[in-house]
Amino acid sequence: MGQSDASEPREQPLLTDSIVGSSFTRTSYTRNRNRKEGKRRRILNKNARQSRVKPTTGKTNLLPSQKSSSPIVDFNDIGRSSSATHGRANETPKQAKERLEKMCGAVRTLLECVGEDPNREGLLATPSRYAKALLYLTKGYQDNVKNVVNDAFFCESHKGMVIVKDIEIYSLCEHHLVPFTGKMHIGYVPSDTVIGLSKLPRIAEMFSRRLQVQERLTQDVAQAVMDILNPQGVAVIMDSAHLCMVMRGVEKTCTTTITSCVLGCFKKDSTVRNEFLSLVNFNRT
Ligand SMILES: [Zn+2]
Repeated sequence: MGQSDASEPREQPLLTDSIVGSSFTRTSYTRNRNRKEGKRRRILNKNARQSRVKPTTGKTNLLPSQKSSSPIVDFNDIGRSSSATHGRANETPKQAKERLEKMCGAVRTLLECVGEDPNREGLLATPSRYAKALLYLTKGYQDNVKNVVNDAFFCESHKGMVIVKDIEIYSLCEHHLVPFTGKMHIGYVPSDTVIGLSKLPRIAEMFSRRLQVQERLTQDVAQAVMDILNPQGVAVIMDSAHLCMVMRGVEKTCTTTITSCVLGCFKKDSTVRNEFLSLVNFNRT
């Protein structure tokens, strides 16, 4: 399960300070970038956010739901929402059918624009297939953190690190609408509550099934776990290959991109951070 007991001696960190330092540079860069993006988003989405429903505190035992400092994550909503996003999350069967027809028309246009004949046999069903595939690849817009987690919290005295590693990620780059794929490792140190282990990959899956940039995806997942569980800290690392870099642009087929986000004790305590990096085998040079 990737758990370690706090009473056990910590493993010696395998990373050198310089590697940790560079990890932090990336993290700071990501934070600054997200801060700027958050500011821009606050302006753009002011009206949309004002209409959001406040988190409920009734039968759910979500922890510090009111404490979210993130402009990205909220519990009854979907983050970065627009009227179109809300429309998709709440659509009727009739609206779903209309959406599909509209998308099929758009794909036919794309086929014509690339120089193809959408009426030739091999392409006849392609608009419908592609539209359905794209809706599946972006199904994260129809879900939210609260539904995904579904109150799977358990009071435990375990104070050691909990890690779920090698979570496969398939997402779409929002700049080119082509895939980026890789692995994510999520770790946290509980306060007095643990979350069902399968919920961490589910949270990662939900955010990755939206149009993303890797930097924001990493931050989305870390902040969601922090907000919903209120642990002592959260760390997320992601390593992925972007087809927009492999198949076009610089065409570097072996390039991978690494992003990290550390919060709470992972940010403050280099021993905790190094234990995480060592346990997820992220100590390569
Ligand atoms: Zn791209």
